[in-house]
Amino acid sequence: MLLQVKELAIYYGAIHALKGVSFQVQEGEIVTLIGANGAGKSTILRSISGLVRPSSGEILFEEKPINAISPHQIVAMGISHVPEGRKPFANLTVSENIEMGAFVVRDHRQVARSRERVFQRFPRLRERARQLAGTLSGGEQQMLAMGRGLMPQPKLLLLDEPSMGLSPILVREIFQIIEEINRMGTSILLVEQNAYMALSIAHRAYVLETGVIVLEGKSEDLRQDAKVRSAYLGEVVEEEKSPVVSLSGHIPQGNDSQVPFIS
Ligand code: ATP
Repeated sequence: MLLQVKELAIYYGAIHALKGVSFQVQEGEIVTLIGANGAGKSTILRSISGLVRPSSGEILFEEKPINAISPHQIVAMGISHVPEGRKPFANLTVSENIEMGAFVVRDHRQVARSRERVFQRFPRLRERARQLAGTLSGGEQQMLAMGRGLMPQPKLLLLDEPSMGLSPILVREIFQIIEEINRMGTSILLVEQNAYMALSIAHRAYVLETGVIVLEGKSEDLRQDAKVRSAYLGEVVEEEKSPVVSLSGHIPQGNDSQVPFIS
């Protein structure tokens, strides 16, 4: 097993953010955690990457406990976290931002090789290598954040809301890239509010509600589940293949990607 999270509990002061969460990611999988705002999805990713400490429970990566080791050691073990909001270092170039992702790698040739792989995966970043990262579009910034996350060549990539604030076309492009990254051998733990897209690419899914996992299963099964359909996919009136129209009949605009839509 690549990642095992067992009975994880986390408090922020008096707030009980996670109340005994257990799940796994097997090698080669895309696993998604879906849930409403505040359910605790980002907290799970932060705890795996060592940014918040559990009050109880265990996190095992390749069977080794990682809940007491430092974030940079966790990166060196093969876990890379692309946080929500994807803020680049605005006054550094795209290339410099990408290289920052390899902070745990000492060998310059390896950094150059990794950067080349990132540029192959994201040709648009290569075109903009010398551009200041603060001037990139939202979609390009998401690619940059993912490229930075790929620099240490992780075994497990943690992605927090990669669709946030992107237009439907860009959301589809980002999700295709996530599938490609997975096909090339990187396992992925994907946190999303865009449950429709997440369930369309993930192998398995967990539904989180206020710090508790309430449902789990294969993505295709959860897509058929009545509760998931009403709570997370909206009223699904038509399956796929229609033009990009949201489920409420409203045409999604630029920053509207959190509205579930049919593609
Ligand atoms: P979103 O989709 O809105 O990002 P989420 O499912 O990722 O939500 P978390 O960000 O993990 O949810 O937050 C879970 C709970 O923990 C929320 O009630 C939130 O207010 C609380 N919380 C998160 N971070 C902190 C913090 N640093 N201090 C105090 N409370 C926090």
